Amino acid sequence: MAGLMYYAVGPDDGEGWIAVNAQSEDDARRAYCNEWLAAGEPIPDFVLAARVPSWDGLGRPPNGAEWLEARLSYTCAMNCGGMASLDDGGKVIDGEPICGECAISTNRNQD
Ligand SMILES: [Zn+2]
Repeated sequence: MAGLMYYAVGPDDGEGWIAVNAQSEDDARRAYCNEWLAAGEPIPDFVLAARVPSWDGLGRPPNGAEWLEARLSYTCAMNCGGMASLDDGGKVIDGEPICGECAISTNRNQD
């Protein structure tokens, strides 16, 4: 699995980001556009790519917990419709990304 370079790519409003294995930031943004926007069009400025070196050694796309551990957000595993992020009080619980609000209610259940 030599040469893996993972990027988190998505629009600057923060929703719908994907993990992309690419050789450069522009390649990662291009891959996102080909999948979700019009292929062959110029890459819009609102599509961002962030390099995530901690994903390179996984040998597979990152799971939700690994998005959080990379200081990114991911859909909460409790189906609350929210986004989990460590900066927002979210936690990885039993290997699943849990948003701040659900993490609080889960703690209450454990008390
Ligand atoms: Zn939640």
